Amino acid sequence: MQKIICIIVHTMKKTGHFVNGEVIHEDGKNIEIFNPSNGEIISSINCASKNIIEKTIISSQNAFNEWKLYSIAKRTEILFEYKVLLEKNKDKLAKIIGEDLGKVYDDALGEVRRGIENIEYACGIGEVIKGEYNKNISSDVDSWSEFSPLGVVLGITPFNFPAMVPLWMFPLALATGNSFILKPSEKDPLGSMFITELFNETKAPKGLLNLVNGDREVVASLINDQRIKAVSFVGSTPVAKNVYELSASSGKRCQALGGAKNHALILSDANIDFTTDQLISAAFGSSGQRCMALSVAVVSSDIKENFLKNLHQKVSKLKFGFEDLNSNSFGPLVSKEHLQSVENNIKLAEGEGAKIVIDGRDLIKRKNSNGGYFLGPTILDQVNTKMQSYKNEIFGPVLQVIEMKNISEGIKIINDNEFGNGCCIFTSSGHNARLFADKAEIGMVGINIPLPVPSAYHSFGGWRNSIFGDLNIYGPDGVRFYTQRKTITQRWPSSEKSSGIDLSMPNNLKQ
Ligand code: NAD
Repeated sequence: MQKIICIIVHTMKKTGHFVNGEVIHEDGKNIEIFNPSNGEIISSINCASKNIIEKTIISSQNAFNEWKLYSIAKRTEILFEYKVLLEKNKDKLAKIIGEDLGKVYDDALGEVRRGIENIEYACGIGEVIKGEYNKNISSDVDSWSEFSPLGVVLGITPFNFPAMVPLWMFPLALATGNSFILKPSEKDPLGSMFITELFNETKAPKGLLNLVNGDREVVASLINDQRIKAVSFVGSTPVAKNVYELSASSGKRCQALGGAKNHALILSDANIDFTTDQLISAAFGSSGQRCMALSVAVVSSDIKENFLKNLHQKVSKLKFGFEDLNSNSFGPLVSKEHLQSVENNIKLAEGEGAKIVIDGRDLIKRKNSNGGYFLGPTILDQVNTKMQSYKNEIFGPVLQVIEMKNISEGIKIINDNEFGNGCCIFTSSGHNARLFADKAEIGMVGINIPLPVPSAYHSFGGWRNSIFGDLNIYGPDGVRFYTQRKTITQRWPSSEKSSGIDLSMPNNLKQ
C-alpha cells in the first residue's frame, strides 16, 4: 500500500506558484492535497521559499507601477474580460472545487456565482470611486478627496470558499489600482490556482495577480515584508487575531475576518414547514463548513417538540455519502483531521449531557464511505450555553438545539456568544422581527432568511471575535480598505488684490 501511494505521488501533477504570468516550481516543504471524497492524493504543493517570495513581491511591485497608470476604462475592460472568462469556465471551476474540497456541484456553482457578483461590482469602479468635491468652500477655494491605491496588497484565504473568498478581495483591490498577492489555503489550493490562471489570460499586466502557496511560515514572511501595504484575511478566529496583530505591528492596515457560531431564533408563530426547510439548508449545506452556516437553533419551548419532529423527518431524507457525490445534498468534510475534530465535538456534547436526536456517525457507519471524510447530518438537543461543545465553532454538519422561554432570552443567548457573525429569526410577526433586528448585536442579520450574506453591493463582516479591523470586506468598505484618501484644497484668486498676511488659523468665514 505504502509503495502504491509513493508511485501516485511521483506521477501526479504538482501545483506550483503562479508568479509574473507563469507557473513556477521550486523544491521546498511539501504538502499533499487530498480528494476528500475518497482520501486519494490528487496533487501537492511546495511552500514558497524566500526566493519565490522575493520574486513574487518584485513582480507585484512592477505590475503595480504599470497598472496604477491605467485609466478606469482600461481597468474595467480587463475586469469585464475576466468576468466573461469565469462565466465560460464556471463548470470546470465547480468540478475542481468538487474534487479538491468535496463540495457538491450546485453548491460549488453557487459559490462561483457569488464570486462573480464581486467582479460585476468592481466593473462599476468608475461610479464607486468618484470621490467627493466641494466648490467654493471658502472664497475662491475648492476642495476634493481622491482615493489612491495602496500598492501591493495581500489576501490570505480559508479552505471553505476557494473561489468566492479570493473573489471577495482581488477584483476590488485591482479595480482600485493595486496589485494583489493571493495565499490560498494549503488544504485545497486548486480552485484558487485556476481562477488566478484564468485572470492571467486577460490583457492585465503580468504579475498583477500573483499566487504563492504555503502555510503559516509563508504568511508570516509576507506580512512582515514592508513592501506589502495591506492584508485581507479570512479564516479562523485565533489566526485572524494573530494576523491582525502581526500586520498592525508592522504598520499595515488589515481586515481579518474570523470564525462564527450563527444562531436562528424560532418563534412560536413561525411557519414550521418553511422554517425547517430553510434551517436544514443553512445548517447542512456544504457540510456546515460555511462561516454563515446556522449551527444553533434557539426554539420557543411551546413548539420545540413539533419542530424537532418535523426536522427529524426531513433530515433523515438528506442524501450524502460517496456514491454519486453530485446528486447528494452535501459532500464530505475537507480533511481527515477536520472530520476527527467534528466527531470529537459530538462526543464532547454527548459527555456534557446533550441528547443526540440524529447521529451522523451512525449514519455513516451504515454506508460505505469509501475512504472519504463523510459525516452524516447530526442534531443535538438539550444543549445549553455552558457546554464547551456549544462554545466551540464545530464547522461541520451538526445542528445544536437550545430551548428558550421568550424572544428576550433568545436574543441574550446570541449577544452573549463570543462570535457575532450572522444570525436570523423565523417569525410571522413584524414587531418581533424589528425588535430582533434592533437588539441583536451581530454583523449580519436575517429575517426569515437563514444565510444573510450581503450582496456584493453591501459589505460583509461580523462583530466581536468574528472580525479584527475597522472595515468590512468587499462592497463600499472594500473600496475604502484598498485605497487611501488624499484631500486637495486649491485656491485660484479671482482678484489680483493682495490678500495680506494673517497669522491666525485660516478661517473660512473670514475669507
Ligand atoms: P485557518 O484559519 O486555519 O486558515 C486560513 C488561512 O490562514 C489559510 O490560508 C492558512 O494557510 C492560514 N493560516 C493557518 N494557520 C495560520 C497561522 N498560524 N499563521 C498564519 N496563517 C495561518 O482557517 P480554515 O480552516 O482554512 O477555514 C475555516 C475557518 O474560516 C472557520 O473558522 C470559518 O468560520 C472561517 N471563515 C470565516 C469567514 C468569514 O467571512 N468570517 C469566511 C469563511 C471562513
